[in-house]
Amino acid sequence: MAWLKPMLKLQSASRAPSRFARSAAQHLGKKFSPVFEIRSSPGKGLGVFATKNTPRNADIMRDPLAFRAWKGEDIVERYLGFIMLPVTTRQNILKLSVGQTVLDYRAIVDETYPRDNDYDVFKLDDINNTNAFTIAHDTGLAGELFLNACRINHSCIPNADQVANEGTGDLVMRANRDINADEEVTTSYIMRAAPREIRQRELSERWGFTCQCPACDPGHPFSHSHERRLHALLRTYKDSACYLDDDGRLKSAEKWPYAALEQVAGSFRRRTELLTEHHSLRSYTREVYLGAFEVAIAKYKLRRVRSDLEEALKLLELTIQAERVYFEEAIARSHEELYARLERGDISGV
Ligand SMILES: [Zn+2]
Repeated sequence: MAWLKPMLKLQSASRAPSRFARSAAQHLGKKFSPVFEIRSSPGKGLGVFATKNTPRNADIMRDPLAFRAWKGEDIVERYLGFIMLPVTTRQNILKLSVGQTVLDYRAIVDETYPRDNDYDVFKLDDINNTNAFTIAHDTGLAGELFLNACRINHSCIPNADQVANEGTGDLVMRANRDINADEEVTTSYIMRAAPREIRQRELSERWGFTCQCPACDPGHPFSHSHERRLHALLRTYKDSACYLDDDGRLKSAEKWPYAALEQVAGSFRRRTELLTEHHSLRSYTREVYLGAFEVAIAKYKLRRVRSDLEEALKLLELTIQAERVYFEEAIARSHEELYARLERGDISGV
């Protein structure tokens, strides 16, 4: 489902200023110093913890790529790439946890390769399934291992998100709310906007654990309000499903009457309200702003009402703000050029 895709995040304009906001601004553009440590997390093995108060939108970690496995790649070919790595990198990768559904390597390998006994081919595949971050490249999807980031434990209401890597190949983890010193850093392994039942099934099937975050604890008051929010969010997607494609963007923009576009715009507004209610959901707002922008442009093309163009400009500005923080500069720049053309009333590019 389109709305289940992980999206990028945006600093909410309506949110109260962060209590660490001043220091967040000071962090930008400065040489990065890691603000985390890896240590035991009760009941979860190892975890990543903040070593100092970390403001919302500050980077916690910039973790270099250790190993990349292309989706669909043959596991033996993958292993041949793996053995070219420096020995310490290989050793560190092989220390990573394997899944609960881990294969019985020894039995399989003894049967298939009785003379070789190279269990690591299979172990690497399972380590990758359990620990890798899925990264989209122009050439396809890859599972990428980052030795520090893969120690971050899951929460359905995480305090950190993975953001665009600025062309370095590093995995950048950024706080989506203020994080206190000694607080555990968490991220979401799954589509956090899915209802609890779906989240728990996915976590159990792929990672073999039951999440005990406040959103998953039926006895926690937060879980009720959050679950209501997620179901309301789901309804906004169902309400406008016939107008949108799989990516949640307006399809066949020219065929809808103005009243229908207003309905879709209302659905996008409601979605934005719900997403900005909780820090863990704001990572989806950039795509919603962009979708709402396209609807406003479609409305403007039909009636040439100035307020529709102003609405489109406002939504594009919010999109650009997000891209400046969470994307590579080139993406924001192309939208800035579009903004300049729209301001002049030139809609030829949209
Ligand atoms: Zn949870």
